[in-house]
Amino acid sequence: MSYVACLRCKECGAEYPITPRTVCDHDFGPVEVAYDYAAMQGKVTRTSIEAGPRSLWRYKDLLPIEGEPKVGLHSGYTPLVKADRLARELGVRELYIKDDSTNYPTFSYKDRVVSVALTKAMEFGFDTVGCASTGNLAHSVAAHAAKAGLRTVVLVPEDLEEGKIVGSRVFGPLLVKIKGNYDDVNRLCSQIADKYPWAIVNVNLRPFYTEGAKTHGFEIAEQMGWQLPKHTVVPVAGGTILPKVWKAYRELIELGLVEDNGPRIHAAQAAGCNPVVKAIAEGEEIFQPQKPNTIAKSIAIGNPADGYYVIKVVTESGGAGESATDPEILAAIGLLARTEGIFTEPAGGTTLACAIKLIQSGRIPRDEPVCVCITGNGLKTIEVMTGQFESSPVIAPRLGEFEQMLAKLDENGASGAHARLATSKVI
Ligand SMILES: *Cc1c(COP(=O)(O)O)cnc(C)c1O
Ligand SMILES: [Zn+2]
Repeated sequence: MSYVACLRCKECGAEYPITPRTVCDHDFGPVEVAYDYAAMQGKVTRTSIEAGPRSLWRYKDLLPIEGEPKVGLHSGYTPLVKADRLARELGVRELYIKDDSTNYPTFSYKDRVVSVALTKAMEFGFDTVGCASTGNLAHSVAAHAAKAGLRTVVLVPEDLEEGKIVGSRVFGPLLVKIKGNYDDVNRLCSQIADKYPWAIVNVNLRPFYTEGAKTHGFEIAEQMGWQLPKHTVVPVAGGTILPKVWKAYRELIELGLVEDNGPRIHAAQAAGCNPVVKAIAEGEEIFQPQKPNTIAKSIAIGNPADGYYVIKVVTESGGAGESATDPEILAAIGLLARTEGIFTEPAGGTTLACAIKLIQSGRIPRDEPVCVCITGNGLKTIEVMTGQFESSPVIAPRLGEFEQMLAKLDENGASGAHARLATSKVI
């Protein structure tokens, strides 16, 4: 039993039964899962959710599956970290990191959308699944499909980081490298989805897949004690997660589970691929596609499928868009690591760097609660950090050499965490 009503066109409102479908027959608008919220009143409550499993499935009533979850049983419910050291550094009062770099099993927000999409694929009876990916989606589809015993075909751009290629291949999918960027990969994948009876999660299962992203927003609200942060900074690639965090907030408000505090959603992109942020800055409703050129490969999508809705949500909520250069992205990765002990990939660096710029420019006031969405893990993209550190000292295993090394550090004016190590005390 579920509260799912139908698929509804986001443009004309035409309704369709629950089948694999991406667009409306009348106007090619995207279709979205619609629910019977009236039937949920009094049944889907804080208590009912809190009684659920410690995974994204605690929000099952707000997800488009009919039976019990079949894959991704441990995905979601990642930490919401109160980032006090980082907050002090940035001069803001209340800062949170929603840390999907720890998501199970493949360390990115994609484990959410894939858990829902593959459960739905199995409900529909597909035996083969696939995706067009900038890396993390391939990684997650491959892992979840292995656990579910589904055949897997994943397509990625040729120039992807090795961590994501090896990370995906270990699960045994057919991984195909495409000579081109993500937008080329996606175009080919749409043709494949038309021709083969496969569940391509972000093509013909897109309405179901995208719903999984709401759980990132549900968790933020629940983990803040059933409150919404005044500001949420969200990265944008294809434009799935940002509008779905907003949908999550709206649903919780509709059900009376949180108060409507006028939450603002801000969009973060890399300067080398910022079609949506550029459109927001220029006050345009429609973005111009770009050719990506950034180290933030997992969010390098020049023609985002749901970019139009990102612009709409940011504008409607009173949020802003910001972009970050590659050096700013790397600096933010380092700052998050040194202050909060969280190692994110360039997508997360982008989001934090943009949050910092929004704070510094006053678009996020320093006395209002902010949540920064960290969506991926830095261990998959270690090559971007090459050359970011001085080389580590190498010494013989002798205390004398160790002490000489400490003395030399002091002589050379070591600062911060390495200063005066030789004379540190127990406090
Ligand atoms: C996919 C991805 C995103 C956002 O993608 P959307 O398509 O906009 O939802 C953000 N960060 C990481 C690490 C990703 O892999
Ligand atoms: Zn329509």
